[in-house]
Order: sequence, then structure tokens, then C-alpha cells
Amino acid sequence: MANSKYEYVRAFEQPDCLLPNTWIVVRIDGRGFHKLSAKYEFGKPNDRRALDLMNAAAVGVMKELPDLVVGYGVSDEYSFVFHKDCVLFERRASKLTTTIVSTFTSYYVHLWQTYFPSTPLSPPLPSFDGRAVVYPSVRNLRDYMSWRQVDCHINNLYNTTFWTLIQQGGMDAKDAEKELQGTLSSDKNEILFSRFGINYNNEPEIFKKGSVVFREYEINPLVDQSSASVAPKPNPQFHEGHTDSTDAPQKLSKSAAEKDRKTKAKAKIAVEHIDIIKDDFWGRRPWILS
Ligand code: ATP
Ligand code: ATP
Ligand code: MG
Ligand code: MG
Ligand code: MG
Ligand code: MG
Repeated sequence: MANSKYEYVRAFEQPDCLLPNTWIVVRIDGRGFHKLSAKYEFGKPNDRRALDLMNAAAVGVMKELPDLVVGYGVSDEYSFVFHKDCVLFERRASKLTTTIVSTFTSYYVHLWQTYFPSTPLSPPLPSFDGRAVVYPSVRNLRDYMSWRQVDCHINNLYNTTFWTLIQQGGMDAKDAEKELQGTLSSDKNEILFSRFGINYNNEPEIFKKGSVVFREYEINPLVDQSSASVAPKPNPQFHEGHTDSTDAPQKLSKSAAEKDRKTKAKAKIAVEHIDIIKDDFWGRRPWILS
């Protein structure tokens, strides 16, 4: 672009590159979804269509951004994780966050009619906010993911009990809230079971555990492998005490990067409702955090 006397304004832009070699989490959250869920008559406490729509939008995001390794969603929020070696947009926080937010929102609006065929959208339209946070270790990242899943569990147990007291117990919201004040998890399980015959354990997994999205390269020996693509090779491991190694971010050659991109593009995006706190999920899918 030609120089102009106005160009000095560029210097006002502040750098916002995220720390290298760290896992980048972009968490988005629906704006005013309490109101939106009332407007479109979401079932309470969990509207399955709305959750499926969130997951479908997340799959769209994963497909468009191969640098993402995993996502986790609950209620009106989704967390997306960029690999620690990611160099997309030079790791600029605003670029990464706004790209996720707008891609997710586009899919959410585009797919709305698939999940809510008889209630067309009207302004104010669904929108999302977003933020980027970096985590320096796999342990920190997994603790982050665990934090969101524990939050899902705590909220869902509360909401399930709260809405059962209203829908089946005939209480109003104020009385239900009072009834639950100071109760422990065990008390809520007991209320559900003894008063309403509901075993919380039998509630749908998607409500209890939220949703995990990731690229599936089947290596789970329990599942049919015929249609599975092959997982990319893990990065060379850093061995402590091995003086030739460094912990520099891995940079692929052009051809290796192209191959990696193709492998990722071919992979199916899985949506599962399973525990991500214990080691099992990660241990069976070593490519996610490698
Ligand atoms: P903010 O703009 O601050 O995020 P909010 O109204 O979106 O405000 P949140 O704390 O994000 O508040 O909570 C989201 C709300 O959206 C929940 O409290 C719940 O009422 C509603 N909601 C989201 N997903 C569903 C769903 N699948 N089924 C029913 N209700 C839902
Ligand atoms: P990036 O993702 O880096 O922004 P880009 O392809 O969007 O890449 P820009 O520098 O943003 O590149 O330029 C936008 C391009 O989109 C223009 O070069 C032009 O080719 C095209 N474009 C945008 N608006 C119009 C328009 N109204 N009519 C024709 N072409 C357009
Ligand atoms: Mg919010
Ligand atoms: Mg919200
Ligand atoms: Mg929320
Ligand atoms: Mg552009």
C-alpha cells in the first residue's frame, strides 16, 4: 500500500501476541442466553436441540480451524484449544478470538433452522463473547478442562433438582431456591430419588458431562477400525537430561505442514459426552495433546 500522511495511525495498534509454547484456550459464551432461551422456549433445564446446535456449530469451527485440537461445551459456552505449537495469526489474541467467535456464530445462525425448524430467528440475533487464556503445561490445560466439566456437573445437578421441584413438585422458583439453599450434592440426589423417583445417574450423559469435540483417528481397540484415518505422528518427545533436546515449539517443514493439514481435514470430528477429568480419555487419544 502507498505511504500516506495518515499512515502514522498504525503505530497506535498494540501487539497482543500470546506467549509462545503455551496452550491457547478460547472460551466463548452466549450473550443473554437466559433471555434467548425464554424467547425460543428452550426446555428447562436442558433443551436437547439447543445443545445439539451448539455442538454442530463447534464441529464447524473444528473443521475450519485445523490448529484446534479439542473443544468442550456446556450450556451456552464452548472452549476451544489451540495446540501449543500453533502459529496462526502469529498467535495474536484478538485475531484468534474474533475468528472463533464469528465462525461459531455464523454456524450457529446458519444451522438454527435445522434444530428449530418451526421457530425462525428474529432480532436480537444470537451472539457470543470470547476471550483467550494461555496455559503453560498440559497439567494446567487439563485442570482447565476439568474445571469446566466439574462446573457442568454442579450446575446440572442443581438445575435438574430445581426444575424437578417446580415441574413435578409444583413449587414456584422462589420456594425451590429456598429448598435447595445450603444443600450438598448428596441432598440433591436424595431429593430427586426419594421424592420423585429420579436416579440422577440415569440422566442423559450430554446433560451430566457436557460435550467434547475432537478429531477421531481410531486407535481405541474396542471400536471398529475399518473406516478410520491414521493419526498424525506425535512430536518427538523431550527427554529430561538429554542435552541435545530443547523445548522449542515444533515447526513443520512446508510439505510436512501440508500433509498434517490434509490428515486433519480428512479426520472425522467426534462429539462425545464422556469424562475428561480422569486419564482414560486422554490416554486413549494420545494425538490430541501430543
Ligand atoms: P451472559 O450474557 O452474561 O453470558 P446469560 O444469560 O447468557 O448472560 P449465562 O450465565 O451464560 O447467562 O447462562 C446461560 C443461560 O442460558 C443458562 O442460565 C440457561 O438459562 C440458558 N441456556 C443455555 N443453554 C440452554 C439449554 N440447552 N437449555 C436450556 N437453557 C439453556
Ligand atoms: P485475510 O484473511 O488475511 O484478511 P483476505 O483474502 O480477506 O485475507 P484482505 O486483505 O482482507 O484479504 O482483502 C479482502 C479481499 O476481498 C480484497 O482483496 C478483495 O479481493 C476481496 N473483496 C472484499 N470486498 C470486496 C468487494 N466488495 N468486491 C470485490 N472484492 C472484494
Ligand atoms: Mg458471558
Ligand atoms: Mg451466556
Ligand atoms: Mg454461560
Ligand atoms: Mg480479509
